[in-house]
Amino acid sequence: MYDVVIIGAGPSGASLARFLDKQYRVLLIDKRNLDEWPPLVNKCCGGLLAPDAQNILGRLGLGIPGEVLTGPQLFSVRTIDRDHGLERYYQRYYINIDREKFDRWLCSSLPEHAEKKFNTLFLSYKRDEKGLVIKYREKGVISEARTKILVGADGAASRVRRQADPAFGKASYLALQYWFMTQRESPFYTSIFDRTVTDFYSWIIQKNGHLIVGSALPPGEEARQKFEGLLDRLKGEGLITGEPVKKESAFINRPRDMKSIRTHRGEVAFTGEAAGFISPSSAEGISYAIKSGLLLAESINTNFPCFQKVYRKKTAALKFNIWLKNRKLPFMYNRVLRRLILASGIFSMKIR
Ligand SMILES: Cc1cc2nc3c(=O)[nH]c(=O)nc-3n(C[C@H](O)[C@H](O)[C@H](O)COP(=O)(O)OP(=O)(O)OC[C@H]3O[C@@H](n4cnc5c(N)ncnc54)[C@H](O)[C@@H]3O)c2cc1C
Repeated sequence: MYDVVIIGAGPSGASLARFLDKQYRVLLIDKRNLDEWPPLVNKCCGGLLAPDAQNILGRLGLGIPGEVLTGPQLFSVRTIDRDHGLERYYQRYYINIDREKFDRWLCSSLPEHAEKKFNTLFLSYKRDEKGLVIKYREKGVISEARTKILVGADGAASRVRRQADPAFGKASYLALQYWFMTQRESPFYTSIFDRTVTDFYSWIIQKNGHLIVGSALPPGEEARQKFEGLLDRLKGEGLITGEPVKKESAFINRPRDMKSIRTHRGEVAFTGEAAGFISPSSAEGISYAIKSGLLLAESINTNFPCFQKVYRKKTAALKFNIWLKNRKLPFMYNRVLRRLILASGIFSMKIR
């Protein structure tokens, strides 16, 4: 019998496993082959570490090894507002990382009491009189394990949360990301606002000889078509050239109200994007994932197995932060307000 089974070894699950007390029997499951090379499936991500993520890593005493970094390092955001034909540059402090290597690095130094099962797919769970029984598939074989606490750290389309919390439904956005080869230096993180593509935003990031072009779009039949339309326009403007060498997609959450955030249901806890912790304004999710994983570990360590109340309280500040970000949304996504801000040039910088 495990004390805690964690589904998902992304930043939230790996942080939880790292900080759970060694008195607990912990199992960490992920469908990715995080302990083998080459990766069979990549986490689709822009791979930019925002200041909040740098801050929490610093506070945890973690420094990123050089091989996890990628180039170029970016110091400014180029904001293109296609709705009004405006363009501005703003100073930002991101760290450009190889997301796959980042996740592997987080998993590589987990304590020994956290048993890992990678290349293993979580299927379902059920409750019986002795606790929870989870079902998973490892190398084609379906097995079961018992646990006192189950944690869904399995990202935006969390299977754990969909089973525990049927009202959760589908993730709110579909992210499409295509990789193009490039020889040219593009030392900006470009964010593009264009109503004809999405009511969220699109981005271009240079990474290790590639330009990654992505969009977070409302899911639906038209999503891919709108994204391809954006690519055609970017090609026409010479911002990208050639055919994509890699195409990725993933769901992404955008918590617009506090009801979309849920920390637990009975003895099933949620953390990271599975709980709904992600910025609704920028889609920055790595800091929220690490913080919520850490807070869940602290709650379980002090109140096992009745972690629920403490975890809900500890995450109140994260929820408030998301509430505040929602208040900021009109300044980024309301066309009139955004136009006023960009046209004024406030906080922007001139690029030579
Ligand atoms: C296109 C895109 C770009 C983004 N760019 C950025 C960025 O630049 N910076 C930033 O801070 N955030 C970014 N985000 C958000 C960020 O990636 C997430 O918020 C963050 O990864 C959430 O961490 P997590 O640990 O909660 O979940 P995830 O990182 O999604 O990890 C979930 C893990 O669960 C595993 N899993 C899922 N289902 C199962 C199953 N059934 N069985 C076993 N394992 C399972 C997955 O393999 C995965 O390893 C981006 C998101 C997208 C989609």
